[in-house]
Parts: sequence; C-alpha cells; structure tokens
Amino acid sequence: MAKKKKNKTQKKPAIRFPQGGTSPQVLLQQMQALKGEDTKWKQGKTFSLVYHPGEEIMQMVKDAYMLFASENALNPTAFPSLRRMEAEVISMCADLFRGDDQTIGSMTSGGTESILLAVKTARAWAKKHKPSVKIPEIVLPVSAHPAFHKAFHYFGVKGVLVPVNEDGRANLNEVWSAVNRNTAMIVGSAPSYPHGVVDPIEKMAEIALDKEILMHVDACVGGFMLPFARELGYQFNNFDFSVPGVTSISADIHKYGYAAKGASVIMYKNRALRKKQFFIYTQWTGGIYASPGMGGTRPGGAIAAAWAALNGIGMDGYLKLAKTALKTTRKFKATIESIPELQLIAQPDMTLLALGSDKLNIYAIGDELSVKGWHIDRQQDPACLHLTISPIHAEIADEFLEDLQAAVDQVKKLSLHKIGTNIQVAAVKGLKKVLPDNAFGKLQQITSGKGIGKSKRTAAMYGMMGALSGSGELDDLVLDFMDKLNSLD
Ligand SMILES: *Cc1c(COP(=O)(O)O)cnc(C)c1O
Repeated sequence: MAKKKKNKTQKKPAIRFPQGGTSPQVLLQQMQALKGEDTKWKQGKTFSLVYHPGEEIMQMVKDAYMLFASENALNPTAFPSLRRMEAEVISMCADLFRGDDQTIGSMTSGGTESILLAVKTARAWAKKHKPSVKIPEIVLPVSAHPAFHKAFHYFGVKGVLVPVNEDGRANLNEVWSAVNRNTAMIVGSAPSYPHGVVDPIEKMAEIALDKEILMHVDACVGGFMLPFARELGYQFNNFDFSVPGVTSISADIHKYGYAAKGASVIMYKNRALRKKQFFIYTQWTGGIYASPGMGGTRPGGAIAAAWAALNGIGMDGYLKLAKTALKTTRKFKATIESIPELQLIAQPDMTLLALGSDKLNIYAIGDELSVKGWHIDRQQDPACLHLTISPIHAEIADEFLEDLQAAVDQVKKLSLHKIGTNIQVAAVKGLKKVLPDNAFGKLQQITSGKGIGKSKRTAAMYGMMGALSGSGELDDLVLDFMDKLNSLD
C-alpha cells in the first residue's frame, strides 16, 4: 500500500497541549469566567440537572468529596473507609425502600449505570432461568427513561414498549399482553421523568410474580423524594420492596438525595441476584480482577459525599426539604391550572410537572421563558415543558409564575411569530417529500450556528424535529448535532 503523503493543509487542533503549568489562581479565575455563561442554577433559574438543597448542605457534601477525591473504590481492601461507607449507604437505602436483611445493592456512578446493571443482571438471570431464550425481552412503558434503551442497545436485549394511559401511567392490559415466554423483566417508574407519575407498580409486580419473572422499579428521580412525601401524607402507588414481586430498584442519590454528582444505588431483593451483576476475570496476567459495575476505577469522593449527604441531612432534613419542594410544586400547579391557555399533562405524584397548551405553541412559551433566563426542558408526544422542582424554587416561585403568565400573554400577541413557526414546520414537511436524503444536510444549518446551544429561541427547531419524528433523518440530524456539541467549534 502506498504511503499517504501528509496533507500540507492539515491544521493542528485548535487548542494545543499546554507547555508550562498555569497557576491555580489564574486557573480558578478562568474557570469562574467559563461558569459565567452557564445556567444560573443557584438562583433557581434551572429546572433540571441540578438539585440544590441550599449552601450549607452543599458545602458539607463538597468537603466530604474533597476528603476522598483521590481514593479509589476499585479495590475496597485498600480503602476499608470506602467499603464501609458504601455498605452503610446500601443498608440505609435498603431501610428507606423498606427492604429486609436480604436486601443488597451497589453504589454506581448514576441512574444510567444503575439501569444498565439492572438490565445486565436480568439478561444473566434469563440465561440461567430461561436457557432456551435467545434474546431476552424487557417490557417497559414508553415513559421509561432512555437509559433502558441504552442498555438494550449495549447488551442485545429486546425492549418491548407499552403505551401509557391518559393519566401517564403504564397501561396494565398492555403490560399483561406484552409479557411472553421470552420476557425476563418488567420495568415501572416511580415516578416517570416526563410526566412525574408513579406507574401501577403493585399490579405490574403481580404480573411479574405470576409469570415468575423480574420486576425493576426505576426510582432514580423519586427514590429520595417519594419516601418522604409518603411520610408527609402524600398518596401514590406503592413502589418499594414492600411490594411483593419487586426484585430491583434504582435510585439516584445525586438527585433529591443532594449528594455530589456520580452517586446512585442499584438495589436487589437478594444477594443471588446481585451476584449476576458482578464481573470477574481470573485469567489476567495482572491478577484476579473483580468489579461490581460498569467502571473500573470508582471515585471515592462520590461515595463519601453520598454517605455525608444521607447522614448529614437525615430523615428530619429530608422531610423538611421535601416539604418545601412539594409545597412549591403545589403552588406551581395551582397557578398553571389557573391560566386558561395552559394544562398539566398529568396530575403529578411528587415534584415533576409537565405543562402543555392546546391553544398556543408551548415551545414558543418556553422560548419566552428562556429569553428571561429560565432553563426548561422541552418534551414531545405531547409537546410540553418540564419542570423539576427543587427546594430552591420556593424562593423564585412568584417571579417564575409571573414570567410564565407574561410568556403566555406574549405568545398570544405574537401570532406573527407563531405563523412563522408554522410556516417553517410546513416548509420542512414539504422538503421532506421533495428533497433527496442527502439534501437534509442543509437542515443542519438550522440547528448549527443559531442552534440549540446559542439561541434562546428554539420553538421552530422543535417544530421541525416534530415534523421529522419517526424518520431516519431526525436521527442523522441529532447525531450531527451531537458531533458538533462534542467539539470545540
Ligand atoms: C435521571 C433519571 C435516570 C438516569 O439517571 P442519570 O443519573 O442521569 O444517569 C433514570 N431514570 C429516571 C426516572 C431519571 O429521572
């Protein structure tokens, strides 16, 4: 093969590897400056991604993290401290989710890893208990988190989607008929992220018991809110290990547990099930290798910070924080329901709200709020905005709700803008019919430059994505966009 000549026009990467070290003061200044453009979560401007319990708790969690920032839980025999703290976190969670002395689990880096492991465990379980099944199936509602689909993609498991009812909860008849001899596990959410409602876990677990299969409850976002809400008198479907048939639960301590990022638990009904999660390799020239989860090196800081959060906040503290967040959610809910142009997509079971509009373009309302500095997720099927309420939002509730009313008024007035959006959407629909596939690259221009990252107004883009939904073009567009997002330019 001919040697390729080095292309003379080839440019070096934009940022070169640093020559000398920079002083900590300068670095800190630079990083503070970088933070300047980030969403203002400390001021309650952000409705997802960060769960803020207030400065005091956050400082304690940071201190705990720093104390163990270098330690590695890959080999627990070297760090009995981490082994102890992880085991205590697991035991405290077993108690919180009403397990017994058989309940066991692992700490992971987040909800996604917990879910990946639950699915991997189900696959291993199926291999043993359903040896004739080639491709195990897992039944889950459409509202279940994409981490499950990531797991199916990684592990070659088949996901079988079932619809949800009007109230946002999994349709039981559909669950029942989706289960067949290949099914290894049923998944329910407590609550689902998109609409904030708890699936009928007891009934789903009954099906799992009847069919002698596993039942996973995804309490990633609800695990450290629902138990306290229940204590405060809120009512919703039971979801924990007190439900016969529930075999595993995922719960994120880095959400409403207020730990540092990188802390979740995957809990199992018993040790036999957890063993199916572990990975061991005994032939390595480097010695016997054993690892509980997806990663190798496991950050000690995340374990220490989670341990500190649970112990430092305690039941009393969590009840107080939950009370504030739940009360604030009720206030949001009441205001939203009093605005005729808006509706809640579902009646929330805890602190997640989805609001839509059958009169106005809800994404345009989202744009008006973005312009005012609010960071809010957009959802689809149906189009709606998503609010994750934290205790911090008690302080900004009035301001936000005023801005929400103003946004509704603005969008009502700006019918011109709305028409503009509709024309763009119609244009895209038209394009889709007449243009060859490769011409869709042109559409990138709409998402790049003035795209998601840069512009505060994205209603037209979401409209366009809606129009492309279900087509391969949307996947390509998103992949290209991700490629851009994960680069310097
Ligand atoms: C956040 C979340 C996950 C995924 O957790 P990560 O920590 O983002 O990986 C899974 N399920 C639900 C319901 C969630 O809210």
